[in-house]
Amino acid sequence: MSTVIYLNGEYLPLEKATVSVEERGFLFADGIYEVLRLYRGHPFQLEAHLQRLRRSAQGARLPLPQAVPDLPAIIERLAAENDLHDTSIYIECTRGAAHPRTHAFPAEPHPTLLVMPQSIYTLPADAFTRGVSTVTVPDLRWRRCDIKSIMLLPNILAKQQAREQGAFEAIFVRDGVVTEGSSMNTFAVIDGTLATHPADQGILAGITRQVVLALAAELGIAIGEQTFTLEQMYNAQEAFLTSTSAEVLPITQIDGRPIGNGRPGPVTMRLVEAFRQKTGGWR
Ligand code: PMP
Repeated sequence: MSTVIYLNGEYLPLEKATVSVEERGFLFADGIYEVLRLYRGHPFQLEAHLQRLRRSAQGARLPLPQAVPDLPAIIERLAAENDLHDTSIYIECTRGAAHPRTHAFPAEPHPTLLVMPQSIYTLPADAFTRGVSTVTVPDLRWRRCDIKSIMLLPNILAKQQAREQGAFEAIFVRDGVVTEGSSMNTFAVIDGTLATHPADQGILAGITRQVVLALAAELGIAIGEQTFTLEQMYNAQEAFLTSTSAEVLPITQIDGRPIGNGRPGPVTMRLVEAFRQKTGGWR
């Protein structure tokens, strides 16, 4: 049975869903997106994702389609029609098709709204217990990484480079400072404090990042939303990544060097467990 998706007011099979070649998402990457997760059929942190969608739209001066307030109902219907329990939901909103192709906004935009289930990408079974390796790449992105734009070429090139170097994730470094991963936020335990880049325009304010910071506070872990250098990360006691898809994922290697003793650290594992309890888990 083919997956039913939502596109501009219609529910239809994935293969039947098409957009125009003049779609500005296709021609200019003129759009924004969200990825959220269902655990046992229920959206996790739905309101936070919708708020970020609105913030991204504002940053991109994108008129949100009228159906955006209906997103909770659309997601519920897609979950029911596709019998989904543990899955990702991809939402994309673009400035729509316009003629002729010209950079400036169309006078009368017809924004596109797509909502599409995506299977959860599965990590190696031992990723949470053994950790993953990472490599660093220069952060060549624009300075509005807080907008969740579909313009992801630097992230794609970074992730591909990591894979070609046998690593799981690429970590961006700008002026010697660790910003975030190509699709995940980055945390390090430095001198006993859990550090992560502040949620400014240099990174995407991850929803998982926010949940993990709240869990760390509840657990009495010292937190510093402050930048740290690559040198500090090399010497960190522990490090981990966070994202909707990967949850909390220990980093045990960076640029071929072990982090700490080369095994997931105790603070990381407490947060892996606390996060699993918060979501209720999916396996
Ligand atoms: N940073 C970047 C660049 C990302 O693409 C993502 C995932 N979309 C994240 C961080 C993590 O955000 P979240 O926890 O909301 O999935």
